[in-house]
Order: sequence, then structure tokens, then C-alpha cells
Amino acid sequence: MRRAGTVLSLMLALLTACIVLTTSTPPITPSPITAPTPTPLTPDDETGFARQRERMVIETIERRGITSENVLRAMRAIPRHIFVSESQRDYAYGDYPLPIGYGQTISQPYIVALMTELLELKEGDKVLEVGTGSGYQAAVLAEIPGVEIYTIEIIPELAESARQRLESLGYTSAHCIQGDGYYGWSERGPFNAIIVTAAPDHVPQPLVDQLAKGGRMVIPIGPPGGYQTLWKFVKQPDGELQAFNMGGVAFVPLTGEGMKESEEHGWPPP
Ligand code: SAM
Repeated sequence: MRRAGTVLSLMLALLTACIVLTTSTPPITPSPITAPTPTPLTPDDETGFARQRERMVIETIERRGITSENVLRAMRAIPRHIFVSESQRDYAYGDYPLPIGYGQTISQPYIVALMTELLELKEGDKVLEVGTGSGYQAAVLAEIPGVEIYTIEIIPELAESARQRLESLGYTSAHCIQGDGYYGWSERGPFNAIIVTAAPDHVPQPLVDQLAKGGRMVIPIGPPGGYQTLWKFVKQPDGELQAFNMGGVAFVPLTGEGMKESEEHGWPPP
């Protein structure tokens, strides 16, 4: 009888411990890009970041062959450390992608500069970006004088934080919406340039349709989760695309409709 009582109290104690564990352990959620109360940056921090930014431009962008004055000026101007979470700030000027939450990344600065240069932007151009992410690439585009930017992000939280960040930095020429960029933004097209910063395994037809004649599209194409080829397409007067292979890259996959089509094409392989 006493034994049964002991077993019963043991079970009760275990049950209580389980309840405490389940209620006190926070659920694992993807880390949002903006910390609720980021530590304010001091003037000394800003001076340090400006120095790191200058070194980044000289050593990883100019030295690797980027010559467009507009692109170099944009890369010098934009505080990349504002586009990453506080825990990543110290790495903001390294030449590599960084996590921005939700399994996504802000692209490597050299690739951002290269893709922007390949777009050959000029005053009056309308640009579509697919994959806003942190908003950094959109800010680089918005630094090019006289260019209007339409950018689409599929993850609602990223779309909202990028929109707020671009607004707070005064980039009024960058318009950000949440949606599946596979379909482009037909109401705002045709576009003189289209940049896709997530990789599908084929060129989305809606983007081809929304590219103006003479327009340039820069897009990584390849299997999701692997390496892809960066392509530049130029739309000819007859509507055909002239293709230029710009080398190997590694981007996160284009999700949404792009991923559905990839699965129909047999990706990822079993
Ligand atoms: N350009 C971004 C920046 O400067 O931070 C980095 C882009 S990150 C490499 C790719 C982004 O594309 C991710 O934020 C991802 O959620 C987004 N994405 C993936 N598929 C998408 C789709 N179908 N439509 C719109 N955005 C998409």
C-alpha cells in the first residue's frame, strides 16, 4: 500500500517537472533580423564601420574588377551593418553572405556589386528585384541616380522589416511588397532591368514577359541547394534573349512557384 503511494507521488513529481519544462522552455523560432532594442551605435562605432567599409570596397570590390563609379559610390555609402542583426554587425564588411533569419542570407558584397554593375543602369530606368531579403541590394540600386526600384520578398516578416529599414534610411525610390516574385510585378512593368537574388532552375516566364526590349536581367539559375550559374540576359528587339554566362555562384533557392516548378523538374533529386 505504502509502495503504491510512493509510486503515485513519484509519478506526480515527474508530471509536474514535465509541465515546468514544457512551459518554461521557449519555442524555437527563427531569429528576426531586427533585435527589439538594438544597442545604439556610438560615433566611434560609426567611424570604425566606415573604415571597414572603405577597406571592403578597395580590397574585395575594386580589386576584383568592378569599375562602375555609381556602383562603387553606392557600396561606399551604404551602412551594411544596419542591414544585419546586432550579433552579425562585426562581420558586416567581410566578403561573405550573412544570416538574416528565416533561413535566408544577405548576399556577399562582391556579388551585390557585380550584379548591380551587370544591370548597366541609367537615369530613368525601372528595376525589379526579386528577393528583397534585408533590403541591402535594393538600397544599392536606390543609390544609382534617377532609378526607381520595385522589390518583392516572399517572407512577410523580412518584407516588412526591409520596407521599414529602407524607409528609415530615406530610400524613397525603393518600393517593397510581400509576394511571390516568380510572377514579377506586372502592374509596374515593363522593367529596364530585373535582378533575381534567389535561384530558380529555369527563367520564370513572367519575368521575361515583364522585361522591356533592350532590358537586362541578371539571375542565378541552377538546382536548388547547390551551385548555380549567374546569367545575364539582354532582351533583343525581336523579344529573344541574348545570354551571357557570368560564372558560378551559390544562392538560396527561389521558393513559391519557382520551387514547385523545380519539384516538377525533379529537384531536389531523391
Ligand atoms: N537581396 C537580398 C539582400 O540584399 O539582403 C538577399 C536575398 S537572399 C539571398 C534571397 C531572398 O529571396 C530571401 O529573402 C528569400 O526569402 C527571397 N525569396 C525566395 N524566393 C522568393 C520568391 N519566390 N519571391 C520573392 N522572394 C523570394
